Amino acid sequence: MTSHREPDCLFCKIVAGEIPATIIAEDERAIAFMDINPATRGHSLVIPRAHARDVHEIDPEDLKAVAALAQTVAGLAVQRLGAAGVNLLNSNGAAAWQTVFHFHLHVIPRYDGDPLRLPWKPAQGDMEEISAAGMQLKQ
Ligand code: AMP
Ligand code: ZN
Repeated sequence: MTSHREPDCLFCKIVAGEIPATIIAEDERAIAFMDINPATRGHSLVIPRAHARDVHEIDPEDLKAVAALAQTVAGLAVQRLGAAGVNLLNSNGAAAWQTVFHFHLHVIPRYDGDPLRLPWKPAQGDMEEISAAGMQLKQ
């Protein structure tokens, strides 16, 4: 299957084999490879072969393929690495911490006592404001 690629995209180059990567799983639409700055042992990324910038741009069929491959990789993290938990994380837009603008889902194995912490402090919100936001979002 030939996929759309973006000339200057790092992850398109990994898909094309032009930049080395440790690929751990793949199928027709998606590939999974190790992150070079791992948050924990076994941190990997799952991406569509076809270039898409973010969640708004990705073909829904590619998104399904990425999700399914991430599920496989999450299972491997538990079975092979002994992860006690797994985070799936995806960032869209610089404001949301995205730094590589080819859609990717982080698969982050979690271990008891590892150093990762939630980036926000859960605190009771204002119910009226929560409802107002919900009304704005409601389809
Ligand atoms: P984000 O900040 O969510 O856009 O994630 C981008 C991720 O890509 C970061 O976790 C980087 O460590 C990772 N990354 C950048 N370059 C490479 C590369 N050449 N091979 C593997 N992972 C990479
Ligand atoms: Zn790309």
